[in-house]
Amino acid sequence: MLTNEQINRYKRHLILPEVGAEGQEKLLKAKVLCIGAGGLGCPISLYLAAAGVGTIGLADIDVVSPSNLQRQVLFGMHDVGEPKVEAAGKRLKDLNPDLKLIEHRVVVDSSNVLDLIKDYDIIIDGTDNFPTRYCVNDACVISKKPNVYGSIFRFEGMVTVFAPHLKNPDTGDQGPCYRCMYPEPPDPGSVPSCAEGGVLGVICGTVGSLQATETVKLILGLGRPAIGRLLTYSSADMEFRTYKVRRDPNCPVCGPNPTITKPIDYEQFCGAPILDPKSLEESKQEAHRAKAGPTEAKAAPDPSLDAQGLPPGYRLKPDWEVTPREVKAMLDKKEKFLFIDCRLPNEVQITKIDGSQLIPLQQLGQRVGELMPHKDDKIVVYCRSGSRSLQFSQALRQAGFKDIKSMAGGVLLWNKDINPGGPQY
Ligand SMILES: [Zn+2]
Repeated sequence: MLTNEQINRYKRHLILPEVGAEGQEKLLKAKVLCIGAGGLGCPISLYLAAAGVGTIGLADIDVVSPSNLQRQVLFGMHDVGEPKVEAAGKRLKDLNPDLKLIEHRVVVDSSNVLDLIKDYDIIIDGTDNFPTRYCVNDACVISKKPNVYGSIFRFEGMVTVFAPHLKNPDTGDQGPCYRCMYPEPPDPGSVPSCAEGGVLGVICGTVGSLQATETVKLILGLGRPAIGRLLTYSSADMEFRTYKVRRDPNCPVCGPNPTITKPIDYEQFCGAPILDPKSLEESKQEAHRAKAGPTEAKAAPDPSLDAQGLPPGYRLKPDWEVTPREVKAMLDKKEKFLFIDCRLPNEVQITKIDGSQLIPLQQLGQRVGELMPHKDDKIVVYCRSGSRSLQFSQALRQAGFKDIKSMAGGVLLWNKDINPGGPQY
């Protein structure tokens, strides 16, 4: 069945008795869907295409932006602004012309997920938000398809295989699903995303490669799949650990008496959007600025801002917030007020507003004494995008401060309106 070209291309596989020509043919016939063509989807799809997986579906709505290139190894500068699935398609077809790559330029949600996964053998979760994870999980359990799960945050990652229709190879029990491990989503806003918390780029390669390995093992029926076992990776400590994950007999989707038998409203369930429309808009703007070069990037305030210099639809809380324009006017008039930056020192190195002093929100507890002499003074506090500064303001008001306000939209909005072209991070 294998052609001479295929025998040559895959000979390092063919020489493994556990793979051989039979295994390579299984790989060529396999159909795998990777949801997300980001930090994890890139190494996953590169290794699966290289391994000879015959059909790979990629689902992602985003475009390539320069800040992706720190970890998304499928893409280069010439792809900036292109839809990720298209740019990925070109690279993967170049890597392996045998590959049938199916591009799904969609947001995966409850309306399309069952249809999307139905023609694939294995689903890989390379997403970065809770509503999509629950959505992918439920659809995989309902459709009896293995879900090769991975996630990353800051310096850490984790990998497992959810497959309640298959057995844990160690115990012979049915494997768990994502809901068995996380029955409830976290409170909205309580867990920062990689965009907010950061991620060490190289760990995408580690975790994505492990997901690709588990996928290849499932296709080949090789070894012990990570069903019922969760592998965690701490890059800072160079430590891998494995934990047992048990199936919840009362699980609402994989238990014997399921209450969830079709996809539900995951945005409502998690209290968070599946796709933050702002983030797609930001990738497009970032790509546009990169293409325009430094001259145009310096041009003018963001034209989408409203008459007060706020993003469209922003609901300003006048008791609690001031706009960057109001702060600029106060600075220009040399008004007397205390101007506090409550971010972390590493963020100050990226961009800051002159005249502000740094008191990170995390240190407010110990340093509130420093601020006591200003209890009756006017205070304005800012952060990256305006949520930490609101917390800071609330804490100081509780401590009896009279006149403290948060700068709406943070330094990011300042850099769109007052200092256009200033860093967005
Ligand atoms: Zn379950």
